[in-house]
Amino acid sequence: MFEYESIAAYHKELKNGSTTCSAVVEFYLQQITRNRHLNAFVEVFELSAREEASRLDKEIAATGHLLPLHGVVIGIKDVLCYKGFRTSASSRMLENFIAPYTASAVQKLLDAGAIIIGTLNCDEFAMGSSNENSCYGPVLNALDNNRVPGGSSGGSAVAVQAKLCMVTLGTDTGGSVRQPADFCGIFGLKPTYGRISRYGLIAYASSFDQIGILANNLPDIGLVLETIAGADEFDSTVADRPVPSYFSNLSGFDADISNNGGKSLEPLKFAYFKEAVEHPSLDPEIKTSLLNYFERLRREGHTVTAVDFSYLDYIVPTYYILTTAEASSNLSRFDGVRYGRREDVKVADLSEFYAHNRSAGFGSEVKRRIMLGSFVLSAGYYDAYFTKAQQVRRELYKQTQLIFKDFDVILSPTAPTTAFRFGEKTDDPIEMYLGDIYTVFANLTGIPAISLPIFWHSNGMPYGLQAMTNRFEELSLLKVSELLVHYKN
Ligand code: GLN
Repeated sequence: MFEYESIAAYHKELKNGSTTCSAVVEFYLQQITRNRHLNAFVEVFELSAREEASRLDKEIAATGHLLPLHGVVIGIKDVLCYKGFRTSASSRMLENFIAPYTASAVQKLLDAGAIIIGTLNCDEFAMGSSNENSCYGPVLNALDNNRVPGGSSGGSAVAVQAKLCMVTLGTDTGGSVRQPADFCGIFGLKPTYGRISRYGLIAYASSFDQIGILANNLPDIGLVLETIAGADEFDSTVADRPVPSYFSNLSGFDADISNNGGKSLEPLKFAYFKEAVEHPSLDPEIKTSLLNYFERLRREGHTVTAVDFSYLDYIVPTYYILTTAEASSNLSRFDGVRYGRREDVKVADLSEFYAHNRSAGFGSEVKRRIMLGSFVLSAGYYDAYFTKAQQVRRELYKQTQLIFKDFDVILSPTAPTTAFRFGEKTDDPIEMYLGDIYTVFANLTGIPAISLPIFWHSNGMPYGLQAMTNRFEELSLLKVSELLVHYKN
């Protein structure tokens, strides 16, 4: 039986002939079938995955050469376009939408030899924290089927957690890669805003949305990141900065750790927000283990400093004002004229036509957000809400830059609790939103952030540590992450 460890280990096996891309694809197709009940996949591309695997096997036989992601089996969140396949944003609105082109990030994966095995279930239009808002029904956490996998990239997290593929792409507007990674016990990276092209990604809130990577180890994240990051003529919001080789730099750091008896060469300066660790919503057990972990870092020679951060309680409202405003605009195109579902009913006029299509196409959470967004943008309330929230965002950014003058890394919990049970928060949207308290900060400020699977709760569920560095410092974030994971024992 195939045991997946990492892309590098898999590539060794491909080279020495102990496995083939086709055998591996068959293995994952069986895994997906066996785990249908988890509901992680919306669609499985059996035919194209098999064809691609056999083509890649022939290429190895002919040239002996491997592409950077040769035969790497990857699942993509159901908001990323892949030409000729259905991309529905897990919404009735786009139930029959066949992507007319391929998202740049997905194209880069394909060009690097990856095999796209299917689309992954998520909250409708990536709005949610539990995957309970999908039109295909919830995804189950593989560690406890009564608990949510997190959201909105719940399928992307469970596909890695339950070994249904090697790596997945998700999207992170306010934590949708990191929080499900935290709930499922895997790694989840949200890169800097502008690091990866979003061409071909169905937009939720454009000044926040980023594609992110979920995997079971850090080198895989580095390799996939360097493959999909960088300038793209189809997306002018991508930074024109060179993309470092994250992967090779990571392996180097590994050696440093072992040569130095488990100590990093340079002592690092970590900051954490006092208000974050003192927050009443934080599970006391998570708080205690975090503080103990900080002590461990100190014993290893690093400094860990509590900094005051009086904005903490403003960040969730700021996030929900700005993202719903952007969503109400982005989703206005789904009206049944050019995009979206068209209902077969007699209507008196155009507005009734829109109302029918949008009422039938959108689920209740998406409707709630469109209404909220339209409200905060409306003439009488624009300044009180939207302008104010933009000012807070600007201030947050300034404060963050000040913090990074003195510190290398900010640490925090990824989420205030471990994975909760289905239905636990569905009656109270505000409670659900407040669970985003630790993740939305990185989206508001555009900085990269990662959730590292470090802790286990006495309730049997895993939870993560979140690390954040300054913009475009993914390389140091990944290096520090190796160190942080190393200290988990
Ligand atoms: N939970 C957040 C929300 O509901 C995050 C969503 C996301 O990152 N796509 O908006």
